[in-house]
Formats: sequence, C-alpha cells, structure tokens
Amino acid sequence: MKVKRYEGKSEAALMPIIIEEMGEGATIISVKQKPKTGFFGFFRKPSVIITAACEDDLELIGLINKSEAKAPAAREEQKPLSTDLEASKPSASSSIEESMSILLKEARKAANQIEQENSNQLKNKAETPKKPDQKYAHSMVQLFYDTMIKQEVLPDVAEHILRELESVDEDSQVDVRILIKAVYSSIVDTLKGSTLIDTSKKGESQVIVFMGPTGVGKTTTIAKLSSVLTLKHNLKVGLITADTYRIAAVEQLKTYADILGLDIRVVYNASEMDEHLKALRAKCDIVLIDTAGRSHKHAESMGELKALLDTIPDSKRYLVVSITTRYNDLCKIVNMFDQQTDFNLIFTKLDEAEALGTLMNLCCLMGKKAAYVTFGQNVPDDMEAIKPDKVAKSLLGLVEGEAHPYAESRDTK
Ligand code: GDP
Repeated sequence: MKVKRYEGKSEAALMPIIIEEMGEGATIISVKQKPKTGFFGFFRKPSVIITAACEDDLELIGLINKSEAKAPAAREEQKPLSTDLEASKPSASSSIEESMSILLKEARKAANQIEQENSNQLKNKAETPKKPDQKYAHSMVQLFYDTMIKQEVLPDVAEHILRELESVDEDSQVDVRILIKAVYSSIVDTLKGSTLIDTSKKGESQVIVFMGPTGVGKTTTIAKLSSVLTLKHNLKVGLITADTYRIAAVEQLKTYADILGLDIRVVYNASEMDEHLKALRAKCDIVLIDTAGRSHKHAESMGELKALLDTIPDSKRYLVVSITTRYNDLCKIVNMFDQQTDFNLIFTKLDEAEALGTLMNLCCLMGKKAAYVTFGQNVPDDMEAIKPDKVAKSLLGLVEGEAHPYAESRDTK
C-alpha cells in the first residue's frame, strides 16, 4: 500500500493529480484545511491537505490475501533443516488480516477510553485538548505510535513511519484497516530490499565476507549458513578464516568444517588471501570468509580489514552485529565499518532482546538493510533471512502475547 499526502489550493485542484498518480481506485483517507499560522499566514491563500492511499504492491496484496495465508505450516514441517535463507514470499507470510483482530480489540479499548475521557471533559464544560503525551489526533495512529515506542522504536523513527498519517483525525472516518495497512507497509518498505546470498547459483563461486566486532556470533553464524547451504541447498561450500587472533575461532570453524566435510583454509595475512581464494573458487559454489573480530575503536585494525577487503573485490559483505549492543555503540560500529565498505547487516541474538525496535532504528536511521537474523545458539536452526512482515507485526503489536516472535526459541530451551 502506498500512502501519500498531497497539498494544494483546493480539493478540486488536487484530485486529478491524485488520480493520475494513484489511479481511479485511490482511497481518500482524509481531507484537511491547512491552518493559517503566524502573522503572514493571515494573508496566505487557503490550502488543503489530502491523504490518499492505493494498493500498489503486489507482494503486500499477497500478504493481505487471506487465501494465501495457509502455506507457512506446510513449509515449517521440513524441520530440522527448515532454516529459511530465502526472502519472504507472499505465500510464505501469514495473513495480516489474521492479526488485525488483535489490534482492533486494542484499538477499540483505546477508542473507548478516549471517548470516555472526552465525554468527562465535555461534562466539565472544558475544551478537549490533546493529552500532553498524545501526538496524533486519531486514536489508532496514536496507538501505533505508543506500541512502537514500547517496542523500543525511537520517537524519530516512529514519527517517520507515521509521517503520512499525521493529518488524519477522528473526523476522517477512515476504515482502520486502511490505517493498519498503511503503517504496516511503511515499516515493510523501510526493511525490504536486502541483498541475500543466492542459494540457486551453482558453479559461480560466490564469495561472501563476514565482518564485525568480537563476540557477536560471527563464527556461529557462518557455521549456521555453511550447514544450510550444504545440507539444504546442496551447494559446495568452502571456508576461509582470517580470524587468526583468536585460536578458538579457527578451531571452532574447523570443527564445523570437519563435520560437514568442507575444505577450510586459514589466512594469516592479506597477501595469502588470493592464493587460497583462487583454489577454493575453482571447486566451490560458495566461499564464506570469516574475518577477525574488530573493535571499531581501533583505527589500525580497521586499516587491516580494508587491506584484506581489497584482496576480495567481487564479494558480498555482511556486518554481523548483536541486537543486544547499546544503540549508540551500534551506530558507531556501523559508521566505522561503513567507512571501509558497503554491506548488509546480520542481526544476532534476537532471542536475548526484549524488543525489535533497535533493528528498525538502525536500518531506518543509518540507511542500512538487514539481510538475516539469528535467534539462538542452535546450528543451523536459529537463523533466517529477515522477514519484514514478521518484524512489522511485532513492532505494531499484531502478535499474540508480550514477546516478539524471535523470543520464542529462548523460551523453549
Ligand atoms: P564471534 O566472536 O563473533 O565469532 O562469536 P561466536 O560465534 O564465537 O559467538 C559468541 C557467543 O555467542 C557464543 O557463545 C555463541 O554460541 C553465542 N551466539 C551466537 N549467535 C547467537 C544467537 O543468535 N543467540 C544467542 N543467544 N547466542 C548466540
């Protein structure tokens, strides 16, 4: 769903533009006269703000289509190798309609409360001011905002997600389903578009580099990926570890390589990379490269990383970060690595997080895409390609219970 605000002299002047951009099927969410503010506003011509929506996203239409929502159960039966490295497809996503009832219940509660408060205020013959912590004129939009804040979404990010719905108020009489879809697609749009490993490519020797601070779960993530790529996708995987500062890291990866029967090479400095990479590329569909865990505070270790990356030009790069790291530190880490190369993010340890807001904050404010998430220590089960719809539902409180969907694995262990 696309939602857009149009501003112009009159409704009549704006409608042709809306129809041209959004089509005949566009839904008008609200029509508002723009208030004249300030001294000069008095002389200004009146203007009107129209918020309109249209279904433009086939993927989302698929998501919302009830009849397609039955597929996930069948996919999940493929355990133990159900680890899903593919992007979410419409048929693989559960229906937003199913979750709407939860939110509608909440919305009704909130609306009743607001109505009650308003009528009390009317009884007291007072005007009905917005509560100081109420930012939005429509109770449903306010409910979205409050829910996102509870999920640790930063106020700036929540406001960005709701930006097209600012001017909607109770008078707009808009179907709440349209509001839900609008906010939901705003989150999904911010999160979608990551670069995933192509699991269908045989014989093309893709090279994937993993970077990140120490202890975030980089080596475990590579073990998870190696298992799934080998056992589920039948790809020939080769491993290179340049994480030679930590003997345990080399041993850890060697153990997984032995179990899976994979060729593994150890690279002690950048000059050795080329030779090992050529050897593995000649016989593997995919080469996964583990780099040494680096502190973003050390300029020298960042310089070493850059030298290493220069020896692997044609590679996809992932920065592995733990969602449990303080948000300010995460920003510094992303900034520092961003100065060396472009990358997508892998968020680890979602099972240890109370909420998923940090993931949304980092992607939205740092302009980065998250490709995969990990949510436990089980190799390979506790990892999947990010599912923007799953995150959106969690951030909007469209899931039953208090916990976010990736916290489940923690509870079952
Ligand atoms: P590295 O230093 O970045 O290579 O980190 P490791 O792969 O050695 O992992 C560090 C610790 O984090 C280990 O105890 C892992 O089992 C644990 N770990 C890795 N991924 C996850 C995850 O998704 N959730 C949890 N709870 N622990 C994880």
